[in-house]
Amino acid sequence: MVLPVTKTELEEKQTTPPKPYTTATLLKAMENAGRLTSKAKLRQALKDHGIGTAATRQILIDKNEQLGYWTIDKKSRIIKLTDSGNRIIDLLKDNPLVKVDLTAQWEEKLAEVSSGNLSLSDFSEIAKKEASAIVAQIIGSQTESFRQEEPAQVIASCPLCGGQIQQDGHAYKCRNYGQEAGCNFYLGRYPSWLKGNELQPHEVLSLINTGKSSFLKMYSPKKRRNFQARFTLNLAEKKIDFEFKPRKQILAKEIGICPLDGGKILESDKQYVCQNHRVQRDQSGHWQESGCPFKVFKTMLGTKITMADMQAMLNQGQTEVKEFTGKKHQLFRARLIFDENQGRTTFRFEN
Ligand SMILES: [Zn+2]
Ligand SMILES: [Zn+2]
Repeated sequence: MVLPVTKTELEEKQTTPPKPYTTATLLKAMENAGRLTSKAKLRQALKDHGIGTAATRQILIDKNEQLGYWTIDKKSRIIKLTDSGNRIIDLLKDNPLVKVDLTAQWEEKLAEVSSGNLSLSDFSEIAKKEASAIVAQIIGSQTESFRQEEPAQVIASCPLCGGQIQQDGHAYKCRNYGQEAGCNFYLGRYPSWLKGNELQPHEVLSLINTGKSSFLKMYSPKKRRNFQARFTLNLAEKKIDFEFKPRKQILAKEIGICPLDGGKILESDKQYVCQNHRVQRDQSGHWQESGCPFKVFKTMLGTKITMADMQAMLNQGQTEVKEFTGKKHQLFRARLIFDENQGRTTFRFEN
């Protein structure tokens, strides 16, 4: 159908800037980061990955807030860059490190590793080389404005080389750090493993003056585990060492012989367990038990399993009649036995 034009109008409008990211839209954007690369091949590589993983994206967002690179509005959840966030972007914007392409290339290589076309050690070599090149490039390009953020102040003399240790907005470091044949004294002020907290100057001074810091509470996002460690001075090798606090060793006491395989039954803090019982984390982080299944918790349904109970179980195959509280708070009386077929402790009810 042909229609006559009855009226035309010229409208004047202005473009609007893109909406600022909120934590929610940023999470989405990280997840779909593949769309930000124009290269089809790389887009494909990132299709199932994005930046970070479901488990780490929120951590990354929080970390940038803790580091003072941006603020997050409590109500609107809008992310706003701080001056230091803007400086970081200035510093890194042309760096491959912040290009989605790099993540995509690595994902692509990892896919080759899983299909068997590239060995893991070759990939690891490639990644190492690229990472060192990137870091070297960043160190070489640190702008004056970035360094001036907090004037560096000398806080001690360097225990490794006799130079000066200075503190600035980012680190405690020897003035000879990063020089040719330089010094290894460098500690970041806001290391991620301190859960966004500051590495306190008095810990650094303690390291310098006494050779060690106190044990600091740390977190490994990769292992999703808290741990404690301290810094110590290694004067022989002129570097700073990292020393893990030994986990409390519970001295397992031998209390009897396993009825299943004759192994020793050991008493630990929460259970009586056969020495041949194994627990291991599998690749997805779940605990897997193997070996001899003999294991009796020291408390069952709120009732304490005493050493005498254990001795009875080991020697007579069952405990005396004991009182337990069921899941619906009902009291019941039963003996405890270890059911070999089910591989767990069960109740034997009196008739
Ligand atoms: Zn030094
Ligand atoms: Zn056993």
